[in-house]
Amino acid sequence: MQTIKLLATLQKIDLALDADRRQFAENKQAMQPSPELQAMLKQMKEAEARLKHWRKQRRERDEKVTELSDKITMLEKQLYGGRIKDAREQVSMQQNIESLKRHLATLEESALEALLEQEEAAKRLAETQNAFAAMKQAWQEKKTALEKEQEALVVHARGLKAKREQVVATLPAADLKRYEAMRKKLGGLAVVQMNGRSCGGCGASLPTAVVQKVHEGQTVKCPICGRLLYD
Ligand SMILES: [Zn+2]
Repeated sequence: MQTIKLLATLQKIDLALDADRRQFAENKQAMQPSPELQAMLKQMKEAEARLKHWRKQRRERDEKVTELSDKITMLEKQLYGGRIKDAREQVSMQQNIESLKRHLATLEESALEALLEQEEAAKRLAETQNAFAAMKQAWQEKKTALEKEQEALVVHARGLKAKREQVVATLPAADLKRYEAMRKKLGGLAVVQMNGRSCGGCGASLPTAVVQKVHEGQTVKCPICGRLLYD
């Protein structure tokens, strides 16, 4: 076979391999967890921390309420149990109990606030958990589909490489070397099909002499971009 035909075949195989590699890299990128999924995970963690905080607050505030309630009950028992005979002492204790009851009301309010915050945090956590689970499932489904696609790409590329080896085996080493160097220099495209009388790479109109040589199957370069031409 003419060298130019072999090079054209090689170029087609290499372009297909380039496309496989690009798609493989793109899929790999698309398989990463999305920023949205990561952001939702962060929101879920924050909601967890918030719920934990308010649960602790509620427990501590409830304990304070119970503690003070018990103290007031005990003092009232002392006051009304008749053990304190002194009238002034009774008045003083009464005042003390009333003061403690006012404080108790404040503590109860604070405990209620913690309870409401806890409920709100629990609601928020459930919402973020649901949203995260849905997003994660969608991502996993996408990932599974992409994994299959990756496997197919690997098989496809393997077939192309086998074909490439066959072509390379019949190509003179100097031509292969020149082709590889040109591909590096010319953005992966070293051999192009002539488009009428124009270069299929850069689009330049080709001189009649060049067109003629291409038709004859000679190895000719486009005078503008330097790519090899075939028809
Ligand atoms: Zn050209």
